[in-house]
Amino acid sequence: MNHLAVTMAHGRTVTPPRSGEDRLATITTALTGGPSALTAADADGLAEIATELRPVFGASDRIGAAAAQLNDLLIRHRAVPNLHGHPDQPPVLAFHRPDATLVDAWAADAGTAIAMVIGVGQSARLGACQAGNCSLVFFDSTRNASRRFCDLSCQNRAKASAYRARRANSSS
Ligand SMILES: [Zn+2]
Repeated sequence: MNHLAVTMAHGRTVTPPRSGEDRLATITTALTGGPSALTAADADGLAEIATELRPVFGASDRIGAAAAQLNDLLIRHRAVPNLHGHPDQPPVLAFHRPDATLVDAWAADAGTAIAMVIGVGQSARLGACQAGNCSLVFFDSTRNASRRFCDLSCQNRAKASAYRARRANSSS
């Protein structure tokens, strides 16, 4: 999601890849050892899903709308619990049909994982960076779900701008 669907990161404008070929290169780099059968058209499909899932992060105050959007995505990509596996190995629980396309499988699995987080009352853990000009997202694993920034550089940037704002106020 951060590689495909974000246009502001750490205070700077970033340009996510726009063509299938560029998206493919980005995905291949991000997922080392990831699926090698991915095509540029698949990469376009994954970028679309990333763009669709991005607003569900940082949405705990408008969770109804996020849930409706997520439900719609799960239906469109035919998410369904399914035990996958080779005959000689214990089955693994997946959330797509065995014959699902790669894009449907990815959408169904990622969408279900996010839906589970929301469904157990933990939507606050689907974090979006609160620093200015940054829309990176993250999974907040802190004990009380109190993380506000994507990383230390954004935390420092937000602290500095809060300090500047306070100083500007007190000198006026
Ligand atoms: Zn950030």
